[in-house]
Amino acid sequence: MTELASLERTVLDDARDQLAQATEVLGLPPAVFEMLAEPRRELAVSIPLRRDDGTTEVLRGYRVQHNYSRGPGKGGVRFDARVDLDEVRALAMWMTWKCALLDVPYGGAKGGVRVDPRDYSTAELERITRRYTSEIAPIIGPDHDIPAPDVGTDENTMAWMMDTFSVGRGHTVLGVVTGKPIALGGSHGRAASTSRGVVAIALEALRHVGLPVAGSTAAVQGFGKVGRGAARFLAEEGMRVLAVSDVYGGIYAASGLDIAAVERHVDRTGSVVGFPGAQSVAGDDVLTAEVDLLVPAAIEGVVHAGNAGEVRARVIVEGANGPLTAEADRILESRNVLVVPDILANAGGVVVSYFEWVQANQSYWWSEAEVNERLVDRMTRAWHDVATYAAERHLTLRLAATCMAVERVYRAHELRGLYP
Ligand code: NAD
Repeated sequence: MTELASLERTVLDDARDQLAQATEVLGLPPAVFEMLAEPRRELAVSIPLRRDDGTTEVLRGYRVQHNYSRGPGKGGVRFDARVDLDEVRALAMWMTWKCALLDVPYGGAKGGVRVDPRDYSTAELERITRRYTSEIAPIIGPDHDIPAPDVGTDENTMAWMMDTFSVGRGHTVLGVVTGKPIALGGSHGRAASTSRGVVAIALEALRHVGLPVAGSTAAVQGFGKVGRGAARFLAEEGMRVLAVSDVYGGIYAASGLDIAAVERHVDRTGSVVGFPGAQSVAGDDVLTAEVDLLVPAAIEGVVHAGNAGEVRARVIVEGANGPLTAEADRILESRNVLVVPDILANAGGVVVSYFEWVQANQSYWWSEAEVNERLVDRMTRAWHDVATYAAERHLTLRLAATCMAVERVYRAHELRGLYP
């Protein structure tokens, strides 16, 4: 494929190709691909917003439910200027695989609003969230589809979503979203759960390729809910985190960054950029830094045909969803770089979302230690299952993980039968 053709590919093309490869390896009939390549339900909504200055503008939002053969839809809500329907469809499909792979009783869903949250006040973001929630309310709910935070949204967004949905029902419905504040039925350990899971998997992957954890080096792209905690936990494990970045740029220190100090700097200034004692680098340079482990934890498609050949890490653990294009995957495989796919690596968030939903439905709360122990146990078990499946069948970890997930979804579908 030419570079031009590859630039025209969307993240949904890559997601569908992964599904096609899995159905082929599993020997499933073409109709299974056709059924799973399309979302079961999708909703596009207009969100009229009254701005603080009295003007009105109209935003676009989506909720896509890819599959619910194994249970209600589950997936984040993204507020980002790049959100479009194909992106939401791809992310919803990956959620189906992630939930099946970690064996949590959900299907896959995703939502988003095309908006750059940095351009809006807190009051405006609350109005956007509430109107978006009321527009998608007919298709969400604790037994239907359970949103959670993603890029550009957080626990406050979830509190507004829960409140708006509850007002519509006339009573408090804690189980409609996860990733809520602890004071509102959130789970201990949820905020750091994706990062904790990423690091549990990264440690396994390093051991798998024979690298020691202590003293090995890492770079993390993105310093938000996933990347920041990942950098902190990697440093706590004794790794040297040499480079981190956010949307504004990157920083690098050959001897390793003091991540706790970087976090304080970010709390003060809003960005990693300008951190004293580190060299300023372009954000993309973090992806090609000379390190053992790379954790892309920002957005899709950042490692592509144009830079995959320059990646120097031995192991890539996908903190973000879809950070590697299909072409990058092929290049990295030929270069013997171990890639741990998103549907395994960043599944810690949905695992603890599941714990939160269970706790909310039972009104019985676990301690943080219990949550973290159960999370790491599920993540490491999933790692071993995927690594074994891949080794036995000579597959990449991504194809192995996708095959395992697709097989489970297909099995559930077969047992239920096709209606009518
Ligand atoms: P976030 O909004 O909290 O943080 C995103 C970070 O990425 C920010 O630091 C932002 O500055 C940075 N960023 C954005 N564009 C960038 C670019 N071009 N270069 C470098 N940095 C850039 O979002 P998040 O929740 O941390 O999500 C990050 C990724 O992880 C997404 O792909 C998301 O789908 C995935 N994910 C999140 C969760 C979760 O629980 N939050 C769970 C699973 C997967």
